[in-house]
Amino acid sequence: MQTTSESPQLSSTPFEVRDGVLHCEDVPATELVRRWGTPLYVYALNEIRKRYRALEEALAPVPHLIAYAVKANGNLAILRTMQEMGAGADIVSHGEMHRARLAGIPADRIVFSGVGKTVHEIGAALKEGIYAFNVESEGELHAISDVATAMGTTANVALRVNPDVHASGTHEYMRTGHATAKFGIDINRARDIYRKAARMQGIRVRGVDTHIGSQILDVKPFQTALERLLTLVDDLRSDGMEPEFVDLGGGIGIPYGEDESGIDLRSFADAVVPAIRETGLRLVVEPGRFLVGPAGLLLTRVLYTKQGGGKDFVIADAGMNDLMRPSHYAGYHEIVPVEPQGREPLEVDVVGPICETGDFLARARRLESTKAGELLAVKTVGAYGFAMSSVYNQRPRAAEVVVDGGEATLARRRETLDDLVAAESEVELLDG
Ligand SMILES: *Cc1c(COP(=O)(O)O)cnc(C)c1O
Repeated sequence: MQTTSESPQLSSTPFEVRDGVLHCEDVPATELVRRWGTPLYVYALNEIRKRYRALEEALAPVPHLIAYAVKANGNLAILRTMQEMGAGADIVSHGEMHRARLAGIPADRIVFSGVGKTVHEIGAALKEGIYAFNVESEGELHAISDVATAMGTTANVALRVNPDVHASGTHEYMRTGHATAKFGIDINRARDIYRKAARMQGIRVRGVDTHIGSQILDVKPFQTALERLLTLVDDLRSDGMEPEFVDLGGGIGIPYGEDESGIDLRSFADAVVPAIRETGLRLVVEPGRFLVGPAGLLLTRVLYTKQGGGKDFVIADAGMNDLMRPSHYAGYHEIVPVEPQGREPLEVDVVGPICETGDFLARARRLESTKAGELLAVKTVGAYGFAMSSVYNQRPRAAEVVVDGGEATLARRRETLDDLVAAESEVELLDG
């Protein structure tokens, strides 16, 4: 049945049907729903640990830092798991730094990425003492220099260079490493800007950085990007700088469809590790999706089924506000019944309750026919699932649960109607 392939050690899944019920690790999904309702995000912690260890092993021949991309899933229970594994964090905002530090991730394992860091955020990160800023423009470099100088401190920086590598096969919105993307600094200008950086007050050049995109299923773009970065490292060394790390960003792809393959970690390591070893640099990677994507499940209840325009619709209680990937990235997520009955498959659109045509979880999908009241599980939602959810249509956000073997723990309670209006509480609506 399970034909997805990644590295051999990653081929098992934490979500299996036992005694007719889909389990998350050792807990029946029906039990989770009974306790916490739907829609419900569930994360298998042992799957995350397994994936972290596999990556750790692949990179073992070189000094390295796995800086988990917090934006993929910032739940504190997930971050705590990362911290326990020894991970660092890749952050893109003050809010993410706050979470990473709350979870106990040491500041000297935090890298700060993002095109639009504010002066306030720069100051906060300097105060924490983070490992490095991944600087995305010359303007930002000046801002960091100014803030660091005013604080009487020195900022560790890498320039995020744009190596003009095309990661084909990914959705347009997931590509970041082509020359016309808003991200990074043109690699042809990088040497000049590094020279300026080396002379700037409050700045210490510590490394080079890139991030070429997300959900990349081929090692070639990583290899090409790395070659270009290492050429730059040579230039910087000729110019008297001593970079100590190369940050390859995130983007390691995972299988979403049943017949898809993720990146094979051994091929990834073969493509990058020997070249880095020669340079003596520390390798930083910023995986998000790879670590948490396959560990997440979204449980949803079928509210209604109906036919219209020659189509069959399954209307679920989870919508695009809960899981944005299908409508935003045309993301594919496998959907399975929680209690399979062996009924005939039917081609259906699985849609949510939101007042938008773009509100769907799957379109034209062959799915065992379902009835109102039954439960479905949407797979591979651990990354960019809850993290991108909203309260659009004033739907309180789903609860999140972590499962560790046979134990399930609430990691974030379901939002309430009060939560929805809490930030507006100063408006005295009822006295008008
Ligand atoms: C989004 C992002 C990541 C994580 O990407 P994944 O595809 O989830 O691994 C890493 N680094 C940067 C700079 C990012 O923007």
